[in-house]
Amino acid sequence: MPVLTRLIPSPVVVDIRPGALDDLGCVLADERISHSGKLAVAVSSGSGARLRERIAPSLPGADWFPVGGGTLDDAVRLAGAMKGGHYDAVVGLGGGKIIDCAKFAAARVGLPLVAVPTNLAHDGLCSPVATLDNDAGRGSYGVPNPIAVVIDLDVIRQAPARFVRSGIGDAVSNISAVADWELAHRVNGERVDGLAAAMARQAGEAVLRHPGGVGDHSYLQVLAEGLVLTGIAMSVSGDSRPASGACHEISHAFDLLFPQRAAAHGEQCGLGAAFAMFLRGAHEEAVDMAGVLRRHALPVLPEEIGFTPEEFVRAVEFAPQTRPGRYTILEHLDLTTDQIKDLYADYVKAIGS
Ligand SMILES: [Zn+2]
Repeated sequence: MPVLTRLIPSPVVVDIRPGALDDLGCVLADERISHSGKLAVAVSSGSGARLRERIAPSLPGADWFPVGGGTLDDAVRLAGAMKGGHYDAVVGLGGGKIIDCAKFAAARVGLPLVAVPTNLAHDGLCSPVATLDNDAGRGSYGVPNPIAVVIDLDVIRQAPARFVRSGIGDAVSNISAVADWELAHRVNGERVDGLAAAMARQAGEAVLRHPGGVGDHSYLQVLAEGLVLTGIAMSVSGDSRPASGACHEISHAFDLLFPQRAAAHGEQCGLGAAFAMFLRGAHEEAVDMAGVLRRHALPVLPEEIGFTPEEFVRAVEFAPQTRPGRYTILEHLDLTTDQIKDLYADYVKAIGS
C-alpha cells in the first residue's frame, strides 16, 4: 500500500503551562529522551543560572555547562566541552541565544535537544534553525528540531517584558511571510506547502487577534504555542519560508548594516512586517497590524528603535541582498531609493503617529 500520509518531525513532548518546570525531571526521564539520566545542561548566566538551584535536585545525573553568549564560537566551545561525556541528551536552559547555542552544539555532537526557554523573544524555541553571530555578522544554521519543549509560563512572567514582547513581532510577521510565499507562487510558481503555511499563519493570526497582553496568562499561552507551532511549520516546509519573508529581510538588513545598534529580532520583524504589508497594497491589514504592535509597545516606526527614516530606507533597499533567492514583495517591486522614500512617507501617513 502506498504511504498516503507524511511524518512531521516534531517534538515528542510539548509542555507549555505555569509550573511546567517542576515536572522537567519527569519529562527528561522519558525513555525516548534519556534512559540513563546522563544529561548535559547548557545554561545561561542570567535566568538559567537562577533556575539551576531549583532544577538541579531533580536532575542528579546532569552536568552543567555555563554558556557565555550566542556566537558560533560559543556553540563550538560548548560542543567541545560536552563531547565524550556519554550524555543521552542536551538541555538548553535560558534565553534565545542559549537555546540557539545548545541546538547547534547538540547537532554537532549528535544528541537530541530539550529546549527550556526562559523568554519568548523569537520563534527559534522549537525551529530547525540556529541563529548565531559569526565573523560575517550573523548566520542561520540548519539543525534538527528539539525533541522536547518545556515552557514554564511562570518563568516567562519573570523575564524582562521586552524579551517577551519581541516574540509578538516575530509571530505576527508570519502573516506577511506567508503572503510573500503566496506571491512567489503566483509569480514564479514556487511550491507552497499548505500545511506549513496554515500553521504559521494561524499562529500569527492568533497572536494578532488576542485581546490580552504579556501580563495575562492566556495571552502568554497563545504566544508560546504560536511560536512553537511556527518552529514546527519550518520543519514541515524544510526551510524558514513560512516565517520569514520581506519582514525578515528588513530585520537582517538592520543586523548587517548596523550591527552595534540592531534592536531585538522580533521588534525589527514586526516593523518590517507592517511595512511589507503596506508595500503589498494591504493597507488596512498594515494599519491593523501596526495598531496591535503599538498596543504591545512594539515599534512601528524606525525612530522608535533608534534609526532615522533615511537609515530605514537604506535597510529596505539592502534587504533583498540578505536572502538571495528568496522572492518577496521587495524583490517583486524592485523599488528605487526614491520610491522607497515615497512609500515610507505614505506608510507613516497611513498608520498615523
Ligand atoms: Zn524570526
